[in-house]
Amino acid sequence: MLNPVMMKAYLRRIYKIFLDAVFPSRCMICRVFFHHDRFVDSAGIEQTEPATLSFDNVMGRFLCRSCLLDFSEVGSPKCSVCGFMFKSRAGEDHVCGKCIGNPGRFRKARAYGLYDRSLRESIHRFKYHGKTYLADPLGFLLFSTFIRDWDPDDIDIIIPIPLHQGRLRRRGFNQTYQLIRKWPEWWENKKADPFPALIDQGMLFRKKNTGAQVGLGRKERIANIKGVFEVKNHSKIKGKNILLIDDVLTTGATANECVKVLLKNGAETVDVLTLAHTERHIL
Ligand SMILES: [Zn+2]
Ligand SMILES: [Zn+2]
Repeated sequence: MLNPVMMKAYLRRIYKIFLDAVFPSRCMICRVFFHHDRFVDSAGIEQTEPATLSFDNVMGRFLCRSCLLDFSEVGSPKCSVCGFMFKSRAGEDHVCGKCIGNPGRFRKARAYGLYDRSLRESIHRFKYHGKTYLADPLGFLLFSTFIRDWDPDDIDIIIPIPLHQGRLRRRGFNQTYQLIRKWPEWWENKKADPFPALIDQGMLFRKKNTGAQVGLGRKERIANIKGVFEVKNHSKIKGKNILLIDDVLTTGATANECVKVLLKNGAETVDVLTLAHTERHIL
């Protein structure tokens, strides 16, 4: 005999199978209808070890099979500092020539996947087309990368790259904060101890609006973003290890400017984590 909780879960599952059969899902990208059989729903996502979740599991209820396959995770060998993949698929992670010759201001940067095809389309829908229901699945992919690539005890403060107030008002939300706001909850679902880092979305702010960086070259981006960010409370970041979060890393101009400001204000180290980075294979 099933207890009432199990009975409820069982009935919910049957109901979902019924709904899926009668109302197939429609792929968010290519618009074909499909039946999903492999995805983990949001409750399931929260119960599963982040490291075992794949793009398929997390995005499987929004994308058809062929769009799910149209995705590239950032793999090894990659640069152990900037996180970009090497062209050669053999060998271990090591520091790339660019990071040796011109040490970045961040300690390390990592991205979940390449900014192309299905991941790019999903990020666009989330950012520009109001698909806020993508915050949790995309946020979970980011969270799984954090758990995989960092010792969470090593990070004191997590800061999303801020939007300017004007844009924040127009858009209604800072999409980067939406990606991380549930991390403590997800962590505490699995672990007995509280999430070790503090998420602080007000620590860094934009003192002026810059317009979008899209369409600008590398040098123009650097000039456009210079002097834009300010730290609200220096004493809180003094000696701290900070993790900066953004959705996409392209030239790195915005992230580098934030890193510079945080270090100037006394942060001990700054790392960068993004959902995607542009494809920039290095030799
Ligand atoms: Zn599709
Ligand atoms: Zn590098």
